[in-house]
Amino acid sequence: MTTKREMTAETQTKALQAKASSVDVDGLINAASLDWAGPSALAKITARCREMPQTCRKNYVKAMKGKGLRASIKAFCMECVGWERLAVTECTAPACPLYPVRPFQTK
Ligand code: SF4
Repeated sequence: MTTKREMTAETQTKALQAKASSVDVDGLINAASLDWAGPSALAKITARCREMPQTCRKNYVKAMKGKGLRASIKAFCMECVGWERLAVTECTAPACPLYPVRPFQTK
């Protein structure tokens, strides 16, 4: 059974994590200087970045700079399979145009 004090600590931890996550996304987006993106695009990019696992955000922002095709392919594949690296390795869609160049291939 969870005590009220434990719940408060848990709630505070979640709030701090959410705040840290938000700061992390804003910092990443600001540091990237996505000059091509207007306010509407920046809002969409920021929202999308917040929805993905923290471990995928840096690569996604790199892709959104438009200067790394590998990053773009990796970001697309990771999103395609729900952010599971192994699922990209074991992708079952050989007809996909990205299949031959997808990341995390074992051979
Ligand atoms: S290669 Fe596989 S994981 Fe990558 S985009 Fe295509 S279907 Fe998705």
